[in-house]
Formats: sequence, structure tokens, C-alpha cells
Amino acid sequence: MTYYTIGHDDNRRTPYAPTILNTEDAFLSNCSKCGRTRFNDSNRDLILLLEGKGKLPDFLSCGHYPLTLISERTLDAWRAAGITGYESFPVKLVNKQDEEICDVQYHNIIITGRAELDYKKMGVKIKKICSKCGAVEYNKETWEFGEAFMKENTYDGSDLFVTKYFERAPICTFKVLEIVYKNKLTNFAFGNFEEKFFYTAPDINMKELFKKPKGDSRLQ
Ligand SMILES: [Zn+2]
Repeated sequence: MTYYTIGHDDNRRTPYAPTILNTEDAFLSNCSKCGRTRFNDSNRDLILLLEGKGKLPDFLSCGHYPLTLISERTLDAWRAAGITGYESFPVKLVNKQDEEICDVQYHNIIITGRAELDYKKMGVKIKKICSKCGAVEYNKETWEFGEAFMKENTYDGSDLFVTKYFERAPICTFKVLEIVYKNKLTNFAFGNFEEKFFYTAPDINMKELFKKPKGDSRLQ
């Protein structure tokens, strides 16, 4: 099986949500032991500030924290196709004048699918894990991890999943790419799972990927 990283396009040619407004509910808090800024998963009723001009995208980027924010249209398509491995929570968007934006309903996606990386195969060692928040310190920086490998028998089979310790970096199956391509959903960017830590690797060219080779009935 082939897996892909899934995220938003970084071009900023579409509106984006740079700020989470309701941080007073301890949405973002610093670990009292290691100082890490972390996500308070219990607060899911997010209010986001929308900025930028143009047509609202299907994957909305959040500059404040790497949230997976998708349009209702995307969620409907995922539901219809039976995509597994996530929970969704509606978010509220407002503009600078504090007026609510209702043109597109967005949803915060919390990924529930799980797998683990094969650190042994990758030559990565865990040095320390914060006993309070679970922050992990490695023997090298993540951009030095090299090719990513999945640990055998750790993948739960979900269409959307994250690897242990990288809960903010969603991975998906080919089915998710197919839905995005067929429904022309905008502002999504996919990469090869193996290149997960090659931060400058180019996004997958969807047109190229879905160019139907002769005799391939997969997309009919
Ligand atoms: Zn900590």
C-alpha cells in the first residue's frame, strides 16, 4: 500500500485563518515542565479569524496551529465515500469586524487513525519523553530523519491516520486523493509518506498521478 501526507497548499492565494481567537479557554497552553506549547484537545469549539482575499478554499490553513480544517463539501464527500479515521467538529469563522462568516462551514478534523514509525529502521533514537505532556526529544532533528518507514503491524487500517508522536501530521490512503481529485476540492497538497520528513519535497502533481494509463480501470 502507498500512503500520502495530506495538508494545505502553502501559496496563500486563498483566504486563511491565521489566528485562533478563543485561546482563553486554554486552547494553547505551555507545559509547566518542558515549556512546550500544546494543543488542548478538550476544547473543540474553535473560533478562528479569517484573513486574505479570494474564493474560500476546501482546505483552510491555520497559521496558529497545524489544524486540519476542511469545508463541509469535503466532509460530505468523505462521508459519502466512507472515509475512516477521524472525528469532525464545526468551527466558527469571523472577520476583523467580528462578523461571522457563513459562506462555507468548516470543520476541525481530529485524526483518530494510528500507526507507528519504525525508528529502528530509520536510525532514530528517542532521548527523552516529557512525563507531563509527552513531548519527545530525539537524537537528531526531524529534518535529519531521512526516509520514513512504518512499523509493521502498527497501522490500524484507517484512511486517515497519524503516526505516534506526530499527531499533528495527517497521513492518508489513495482513496482520499481520489476524492479530492474527482470533486475538484481546492487547496489540498499531498506528498509521499516516505518523504514525510523531506520538508522541501515538491507536492504530488495530481494531474500527473491521475493521468489514466491505457488499460487501467481503477478510476472508471
Ligand atoms: Zn512537557
